[in-house]
Amino acid sequence: MTERKNLSSNKTGRKKAVVLTSGGLDSTTTLAIALSDGFECICLSFQYGQRHHVEIAAAQRVAAAMNIARHEIIPVDLGRVGGSALTADIDVPAGRDPETMAAGIPVTYVPARNTIFLSYALAWAEVLCAPDIFIGVNAVDYSGYPDCRPEYIAAFEQMANLALRDAVEGRITIRIHTPLLHMSKADIIRTGIRLGVDYGLTHSCYNPRQDGLACGVCDSCILRLNGFNEAGAADPARYVSR
Ligand code: ZN
Repeated sequence: MTERKNLSSNKTGRKKAVVLTSGGLDSTTTLAIALSDGFECICLSFQYGQRHHVEIAAAQRVAAAMNIARHEIIPVDLGRVGGSALTADIDVPAGRDPETMAAGIPVTYVPARNTIFLSYALAWAEVLCAPDIFIGVNAVDYSGYPDCRPEYIAAFEQMANLALRDAVEGRITIRIHTPLLHMSKADIIRTGIRLGVDYGLTHSCYNPRQDGLACGVCDSCILRLNGFNEAGAADPARYVSR
């Protein structure tokens, strides 16, 4: 056990954490929180068949700006599964108000996405002896995705500790950290600004133009813009309509 503990921290004694990053506002803020909590962060992103690849570029910019030593980009072809406006040829909703967004699970839902991503993180957590996993899910200003809810995260964490050899043999306890879970989008932005996050590096839009400019009208853009507005800060992202 002592040996495993040594493996889990670097020469400075920092504990390792696996952080799921997408280049978006929420996961970037989560990464900043994990770093400020003293973790040595290993970032994990997925090339999952999303129609727009600008988010992987954003994840790479963020990891570089935050001096992340290890950032893995895993190909997972969810485009073969489809069933989502983010992975198949389905129109992304535009111009919806937050009340309409909250009324049901939208077509931008990607089937089982967080379960697949967290499962990869879990495998890595065991191999790297980094039982702390961070994910930027949020249950307040969100798009109604079922795999962003606290009961889902609690169930996944319970499953994780039943699934891994090192967990059942008592060497590690998996903990899924969700620091944004109960924060409003404005609170997330205020926290990130306080921690020095450069939101100009991040990308949130579900339907960006070829040149990467955000549309300003998809659910994700609207939640982001409302959050900046409420936080009294300017959004440094570049939008088509601005
Ligand atoms: Zn957009």
